[in-house]
Amino acid sequence: MQFETLAIHDGQAPDPQTGSVTVPVYQTSTFGREALSDRPEFFYSRIGNPTRQALESTLALLENGRHGLAFASGVAAALAAMQVLKPGDHVVAGNDIYGGSYRIFEQLLRPWGVSTTYAENESSEAYTAAVTPATKLIWLETPSNPLLQLTDIRAISDVAKKRGIVTAVDNTFSSPYFQRPLDLGADIVVHSTTKYLSGHSDVIGGAVVTSDEQLHKIIKNYQGAAGAVPAPWDCWLVLRGLKTLKIRMKEHEASALHLATLLEKHPAVERVFYPGLSSHPQHGLAKEQMSGFGGMLTIALKGGLPAVEKLIAGVKLFVLADSLGGVESLIASPAKMTLGALTPEERRRRGCTDNLVRLSIGLESAADLETDLLQALEG
Ligand SMILES: *Cc1c(COP(=O)(O)O)cnc(C)c1O
Repeated sequence: MQFETLAIHDGQAPDPQTGSVTVPVYQTSTFGREALSDRPEFFYSRIGNPTRQALESTLALLENGRHGLAFASGVAAALAAMQVLKPGDHVVAGNDIYGGSYRIFEQLLRPWGVSTTYAENESSEAYTAAVTPATKLIWLETPSNPLLQLTDIRAISDVAKKRGIVTAVDNTFSSPYFQRPLDLGADIVVHSTTKYLSGHSDVIGGAVVTSDEQLHKIIKNYQGAAGAVPAPWDCWLVLRGLKTLKIRMKEHEASALHLATLLEKHPAVERVFYPGLSSHPQHGLAKEQMSGFGGMLTIALKGGLPAVEKLIAGVKLFVLADSLGGVESLIASPAKMTLGALTPEERRRRGCTDNLVRLSIGLESAADLETDLLQALEG
């Protein structure tokens, strides 16, 4: 079955009791048992809940994986995936990963004896060179945030597999509609379902998908033990979002490509970062490992921070906000917002300059978004 059919039907058969075509919100903490000897499938909602289970199996299918696990946030999902590590282990991660994942590696894992080396996103060789005998996990985020750099998932997974290293990919920016890391050889996919998967900026959530039984066992055990699980209602919201993922992603992409092409020619713009542009240094890799280029684009403005401030103050449709992947277009300054907590040195190492503006292209009319950006750039 095709992606959009799976998103609507699989794991979500009509409720056997009532015929309800949407999975009911099982808003319950616990489940009554028939007898002391009873071992029901569901007995306590931290361990398992039918609404969450429907979401977990749909997520697994969309990523072409065997097992899905849902979490209370994207960072909770990331930390859960990192439970494959123990003290003394080493991680190789991309140098342009989500700020919250960087914070987990540096502030949560390092004090517990897990060290992380950061490699240049675009270079498979840099990842390989950073591997040590203690390396147990390679953490990729592609396209990266905010520079939309790509990492070759297949090349790195191949190297990792030969050395018994687990490869995890944060697939939040692409969504499974445009990129399926497990098909490219990765072991684990991580999502912030807060973004495209739910798609309406109304929920915080995360997910982990894997086909590896051993890894699934570790992460599932952690899910129940640590307890960062999503509420049934939040699971339902993500499930609803997934049903329209395909049409939303196609529209996000079409508008992003239109605006990226236009902005690239604008005299106030120094550079546009968007994998769908033929000027993107890794456009070839993008066409190979992605089936579409997504709705995120970053621009570097010629006028530095003052130009960024002017653009942000001038737009009327774009909302100045963190996050991405919702129906409404958002604008952000990576240096001042998403990566604002890093030291200037850390930002410099990541190539995050003050003149960057990150745009999450929503589902408004592309013509209206174009008008808005142009008036703000010229205003
Ligand atoms: C937002 C985001 C996260 C973290 O997700 P939360 O739901 O905010 O916890 C992780 N990775 C990427 C790429 C993100 O954009």
